[in-house]
Amino acid sequence: MSDILVIGGGIAGLSAASALAKHARVTILEGEDALGYHSSGRSVSFSHYGIGNAAVRGLTAWSRTFYEHQPDGLCDTAIARTAPSLYVARKAQLPALEALRAEMDRFTDAMRWLDEGEILDLCPVLRTGPSGAVRAILDPTSLKLDADALLQAHARALRRAGGSILTGRRIASIEHRAGRWQVTSESGESWSAPILINAAGAWGDHLAALAGVRPIGLAPKRRTIIVVDPPPELDVSAWPFVHTAASDFYMLPEAGRLLISPVDEVEDGPGDAQPEDYDVALAAHQLEQYTSLAAGRIAHRWAGLRSFVADRVPTAGFDDAAPGFFWLVGQGGYGLQTAPAMAAIVEALITGGRWPEGLGSFGIAPSVVTPGRLRGGTTTAEAS
Ligand SMILES: Cc1cc2nc3c(=O)[nH]c(=O)nc-3n(C[C@H](O)[C@H](O)[C@H](O)COP(=O)(O)OP(=O)(O)OC[C@H]3O[C@@H](n4cnc5c(N)ncnc54)[C@H](O)[C@@H]3O)c2cc1C
Repeated sequence: MSDILVIGGGIAGLSAASALAKHARVTILEGEDALGYHSSGRSVSFSHYGIGNAAVRGLTAWSRTFYEHQPDGLCDTAIARTAPSLYVARKAQLPALEALRAEMDRFTDAMRWLDEGEILDLCPVLRTGPSGAVRAILDPTSLKLDADALLQAHARALRRAGGSILTGRRIASIEHRAGRWQVTSESGESWSAPILINAAGAWGDHLAALAGVRPIGLAPKRRTIIVVDPPPELDVSAWPFVHTAASDFYMLPEAGRLLISPVDEVEDGPGDAQPEDYDVALAAHQLEQYTSLAAGRIAHRWAGLRSFVADRVPTAGFDDAAPGFFWLVGQGGYGLQTAPAMAAIVEALITGGRWPEGLGSFGIAPSVVTPGRLRGGTTTAEAS
């Protein structure tokens, strides 16, 4: 018997469930055999202020405390380590870089300008000069997260608090009967609870439709990553996360290799996203445009979905027209870095507890994240 069913075992569902398990009997139902198989296992796991709008930065800022001082007993290893992020601009991109710095300065006072020589000191393969980067901003305080450790830590915390995680249970039908949401898997097993949390990632609108709930306009967009081996004489381990001000290339070191993205955002449907040849070739091309490295052999490639609502602010709240149906979707390209704040919001909204202390000072009120804001049809698309 559960008080709360959570559909989706990605970072959104797991972090919210582990927060709620202190108050209620929580069951996660995940369609895949493994947790984090979709977006949460395909991210590059960084936390930085160079992405998103002001609300996303506010959620990121609030979440930093969780990552910097991880709660006792959450995990034996560190879930986050400090890692620099560098935003580079060619001459034509300088206005965009200045605008980015102005946005980021509202959330961190660690930023500083770098000239060409300082850019090369940090990452010697970047192209500088007339056809390359002329200026950059550096945030030495960004965080590299360990997504797998984080997912597993939340799963353990949930189980320790008496909650359950059932994988391999893809929900195929949902009914609301006598004040309870009754969900049935493809194999015919059923569960019910008065509260159902829709943490189905790219499938969020699809899951709502199964429940007869009006969709909120979730748009899954595909992003591609290629992995290349740097030349053996280069130690890339201390290189920053390099992001262009034009948002058309990023590169970061991981385990001695380089992860590269053309920062693509291709409309896609919910599913097992696969890298397309065009986007893989574009990633390799951008690597050669922005650095002196040749893509050579691509050791590995993958794609994942980043799902956005119209204003690109992650969404949490009860549906106005479906009692007990709670939305937790639209984490876009920042679901890991905002997860602690979103989980605290879910905990407050579902238990009726106090709004998380300090979130208001970042401009985050319930009205900012409520699904109801998306029903009016007013949208402001923002590139991140
Ligand atoms: C290439 C890439 C790089 C990224 N980099 C970063 C980054 O650096 N930092 C950051 O913070 N974020 C990053 N992100 C974004 C981040 O990965 C997502 O925002 C986050 O993982 C979304 O989590 P989620 O739990 O909502 O979705 P998911 O992890 O996709 O989880 C949803 C789950 O719901 C399950 N599900 C769906 N329908 C059903 C059903 N009917 N029954 C049962 N289960 C169901 C799915 O199987 C899935 O496991 C990146 C994403 C990509 C693709």
